Amino acid sequence: MFQNVKYYPGDPILGLMEQYKQDSRSQKVNLGVGVYYDDTGHVPVLECVKTVESQMVEKHLPHEYLPMEGFPGYRQACQKLLFGSEHEAIKTNRIATIASLGGSGALRIGAEFIHQWFPQAKTYVSDPTWGNHISIFEGAGIEVHKYPYYDPETIGIKFTELKQFFLQLEAGSIILLHPCCHNPTGIDPTHQQWDEILDIIQQKQLIPFMDIAYQGFGDDIDTDTYAIRKAVDMGLCIYVSNSFSKNLSMYGERVGGLSIVCPTAEEARLVQSQLKFTIRRLYSNPPAYGGNVVDRVMNNSQLFQQWEQEVYIMRDRIRAMRSRLYEVLQAKIPERDFSYFIKQRGMFSFTGLSPQQVNRLKKEFGVYLVENGRMCMAGLNTSNIEYVANAMAEVLK
Ligand code: PMP
Repeated sequence: MFQNVKYYPGDPILGLMEQYKQDSRSQKVNLGVGVYYDDTGHVPVLECVKTVESQMVEKHLPHEYLPMEGFPGYRQACQKLLFGSEHEAIKTNRIATIASLGGSGALRIGAEFIHQWFPQAKTYVSDPTWGNHISIFEGAGIEVHKYPYYDPETIGIKFTELKQFFLQLEAGSIILLHPCCHNPTGIDPTHQQWDEILDIIQQKQLIPFMDIAYQGFGDDIDTDTYAIRKAVDMGLCIYVSNSFSKNLSMYGERVGGLSIVCPTAEEARLVQSQLKFTIRRLYSNPPAYGGNVVDRVMNNSQLFQQWEQEVYIMRDRIRAMRSRLYEVLQAKIPERDFSYFIKQRGMFSFTGLSPQQVNRLKKEFGVYLVENGRMCMAGLNTSNIEYVANAMAEVLK
């Protein structure tokens, strides 16, 4: 009966992690998956999260159903983080926001909405992008294409090509953008480049879909939203998907949000109702545990401040690893410029390593990177950085 079912070979990054787990060498390093590990190599439980978890256990909260769109406090917290607490769009109720199953869930609900209400719209993603962007949008029935982004020559952005590409797109096309900490390259547009991109988007009536999964890991929590807030200030209608997986270290609790900024409160009411309908049909309502944690951390000023500090500890540790990697590689191979490691932002770096070099790192040194040369900086720590830097220097020679 099921003999014609096609086998799904799994996600390449998660497959790499399986290989890593099975590697019996004691000196092995996991720089594949996009997870923040602390200096001891563990996924941290943030102190602000521990505090609210203790409160929740003590109270024995009942396991009730949540509203389809999630807790009101959770949704307000998403809006404040993304747009700034005093934003006119929040005060005039122009933003439809729902809690989602992580950033992935937000992308999918957004894609479902686009497919239903704008069935002709094609979506454009950066070349390269996080692989699941393409799968999620295609899975919702949307045609996906790529726009020029990464330039291997300069280890920067193909900015002229990108602008030219956007200039010839049809009005109403959806442009998936990473407001900060681009995955997989770690290369973000400057503020001036964002201004230029958004001008073209406005001029050509394109629709930005901003996916922010690393808020706080680039500059800081507010500055990382530069492109989002600028777009809203320009009067653009935008989609924003956000994730608390990384910045609250709540990966498995599936906490994210989708916000759609509309021209009027009445349109936001209609949009909100359709987002709820989509949720109702797919999974009815979101999980309460993570929702409760987010609500309680984000809406308590003391815990919020503590959270900010904890995000910056993660950000600064990654920056320190970038600097050390740069120092060792630059000293070992002075004729090559490794400054891109310190210019790139967030959890990932495009290392410039070829698939063959990535393979050598895995085979000879037990250092696991994604085949396209993406490296998760947060897998480095004071115990393994010298080993990794030396191994990289070896395969680069
Ligand atoms: N967007 C980007 C750019 C990501 O890197 C990720 C996570 N790898 C997500 C969305 C999805 O995050 P989540 O785990 O919260 O679904």
